[in-house]
Amino acid sequence: PANLGMLGGGQLGRFFVAAAHELGYKVWVLDPDPRSPAGLIADRHLVAGYDDYPALDELAQACTAISTEFENVPAATLDYLAKFVLVRPSAAAVSVCQNRIAEKNFLRQHGLPIADFIAVTGEADLRSAAPGLFPAILKVARFGYDGKGQAVVDGREQAIAAFQHFQGETCVLEQKLALGSEISVVLARDEDGRMKSFPAVENSHRKGILDVSLVPARAPSGLRSRAAELAEKIADGLGYIGTLAVEFFVVDGELVVNEMAPRPHNSGHFTLDACLTSQYEQQVRALCGLPLGDPRAHSAAAMVNLLGDLWYENGPAGPRYREPDWSQLHAFAGLKLHLYGKHHARHGRKMGHFTVVDDDPQQARERALAARAAIGIVDAS
Ligand code: ATP
Ligand code: MG
Ligand code: MG
Repeated sequence: PANLGMLGGGQLGRFFVAAAHELGYKVWVLDPDPRSPAGLIADRHLVAGYDDYPALDELAQACTAISTEFENVPAATLDYLAKFVLVRPSAAAVSVCQNRIAEKNFLRQHGLPIADFIAVTGEADLRSAAPGLFPAILKVARFGYDGKGQAVVDGREQAIAAFQHFQGETCVLEQKLALGSEISVVLARDEDGRMKSFPAVENSHRKGILDVSLVPARAPSGLRSRAAELAEKIADGLGYIGTLAVEFFVVDGELVVNEMAPRPHNSGHFTLDACLTSQYEQQVRALCGLPLGDPRAHSAAAMVNLLGDLWYENGPAGPRYREPDWSQLHAFAGLKLHLYGKHHARHGRKMGHFTVVDDDPQQARERALAARAAIGIVDAS
């Protein structure tokens, strides 16, 4: 059987490996962490960095096609691999999504709605920023995730202080919008440009990290289908092959594109349990040139992220580490638990998730929030 390659060994890679196995493929994973979640279940785990060329050579020789789950794989690595083996999505598409300036310029050029922004390479850019841009968010252009590398700034002086705090790293300064809600669309696009979109998801965050996702999003159906149209326009513009996620803000009932992720997405976990084909299976299919699967959702769903915080409890001698008692979750109807096999919990680390499915979205949401409370996540959104 053919070997597929996966750059990155996190939970998104782990679900890819499982999906690939079900379709009869073997998977080689490259990740520097010897206990990476995907590496643990892969057929071969190359424990090496993303710029370790002997390891890349080995991967390219062993595999017929390679994809990625880690957003920050160097574009040079993807370009290098592409000389020897199919790489999907392409280095060009991935690099647009890796840099907020390239991403926003791409979106603007393709006529997509985005928040006002400026690129910031020095303090002078902040001094000359239009006053109307504030209040704003300063975001590092590269390597930010889960809200890291971001600061809300009310005015110019705060922006300059934040920029110094980020040690002068290239940033974008974008207008802070009054968000009605946040939604995302995950889709798959094949080599002939055919696309299948999953239903739009409504996302709420805690401390900058995705907390709860609801499907279908509680937004008018016109808005949901418009989000899918915009996501498809982006995928076309990128010439994208594979699974792509697009995050949107809803502001005054209108869509604004926030950012893209060139891979399956945390908000698309529900597809494992509520759709005919998961976002991971679509990634396998697109990578292998197979017809894309039916993305239809057979249920509504609510997904809850399980962060490492939950593993810590306050004892008399301060916080201590203890794995929660999962058995309580299984009393909730339609609940599916997925733990990622991570070797060590940390605050903010994504350790697992669960999805509750139901015919009725409101029921799915209420049961998910009750299950969440039962294991001690209290500040329900
Ligand atoms: P991810 O983990 O999704 O990759 P990230 O670190 O790339 O996150 P963003 O998606 O840019 O960060 O922002 C994180 C969150 O901060 C958003 O989901 C939203 O709640 C809030 N946010 C970001 N930009 C804005 C904005 N311009 N106006 C208001 N809120 C914003
Ligand atoms: Mg991001
Ligand atoms: Mg985001």
